[in-house]
Amino acid sequence: MLIAEKFYENVRQELHGIRVSGLYKSERIITTMQGSTIDTEGRSRVINLCSNNYLGLSSHPRVLKAASDALIERGFGMSSVRFICGTQDAHRELERRLSRFLGTEDTILYGSAFDANGGLFETLLSAHDAVISDELNHASIIDGVRLCKAARYRYRHNDMNDLESQLVAAGDAGARFTLVFTDGVFSMDGTIAQLAKIRELCDKYGALLGIDESHASGFIGRTGRGTHEHRGVFGSIDIITGTLGKALGGASGGFTSAKKEVVDLLRQRSRPYLFSNSVAPSIVRASLEVLDIVEADSTLRDRLEANARFFRKGLESLGFAVKSGEHPIIPVMVYDAAIAQRLAARLLDLGVYVIGFFYPVVPKDQARVRVQLSASHTEQELEDALAAFRVAGKELAIIP
Ligand SMILES: *Cc1c(COP(=O)(O)O)cnc(C)c1O
Repeated sequence: MLIAEKFYENVRQELHGIRVSGLYKSERIITTMQGSTIDTEGRSRVINLCSNNYLGLSSHPRVLKAASDALIERGFGMSSVRFICGTQDAHRELERRLSRFLGTEDTILYGSAFDANGGLFETLLSAHDAVISDELNHASIIDGVRLCKAARYRYRHNDMNDLESQLVAAGDAGARFTLVFTDGVFSMDGTIAQLAKIRELCDKYGALLGIDESHASGFIGRTGRGTHEHRGVFGSIDIITGTLGKALGGASGGFTSAKKEVVDLLRQRSRPYLFSNSVAPSIVRASLEVLDIVEADSTLRDRLEANARFFRKGLESLGFAVKSGEHPIIPVMVYDAAIAQRLAARLLDLGVYVIGFFYPVVPKDQARVRVQLSASHTEQELEDALAAFRVAGKELAIIP
């Protein structure tokens, strides 16, 4: 066999392995805008409980208008990285507005949060330094950390005693600077990081604190500014990364927000910023509109909170094992992988779109269906979805 043929055979084997282990991901084709209900190929008006469209802004009329006005006035794209000829006034304006919103000095935009995390650690830390991560941190943080030469430490998920042990270990090893980095909100459980305690520990050991606010910016905290607001440490986080692709409009784009000199250095050295295209003008202007909407009042985040509370209560009173929490991510625990898949499939038959998660995405015997609420869900939709959960739960003997 030719080497090339062997290569393609190897790829096919790899795919086969993914299929037989039940991990092959196929994509459902949607034929409408993102929303509380969607049409998919073959089904219409499915209640959507699996998007990150927390505030319902990805189809909000004001956001669409801002994007389409910008498209006409400022064009489709910049065809340049930021530092050559890719910075419009709106890019700088959005960076200023995000800084104000997040309570930081300055912000740098990236093509995605994945890029923001990918270009962060390598730029700021060297082999003399240490980075300490929660073991369940997002893949983009893990990859970003891999790219830097700092010594790496991991603490058990959300375990403050273990975090302290790692801070001690980094200090004992003689780290010059230590950065603790965590997801503000963890996407599989909706766990909200204990930022006040983490900040306290960082202060005790002289460490910096960074958070990824992808599942928080726009709706966590009383005015939606994020986990730091929720935990009472607004204004005292050293580095905040996040996405424009979830609650804040849902298109794409990411950012890092920090002290001015940190952002300045990222503009000089961060590779995904230097070597990847500018965020499109329509997304930038629409994001400014998003900030206008979320800063004007807390209507949407309040509605999201009420929807999440209503749905959580409803599932609990039906008898489902719901992981406790206060985030609009609601994990419905079924423990067994096959049951998680069957529950998701049956719910889709009944007009409700959710996703089942199982090992290795979540620990073994922790299979679940993850529900995500949006401010755009109506009470009727939520009642219909609960009725479907009741039918499917009884059929599969998950609930009495
Ligand atoms: C979704 C997510 C990202 C990636 O965001 P993109 O802007 O889509 O690249 C990064 N970090 C966390 C914690 C996320 O949940």
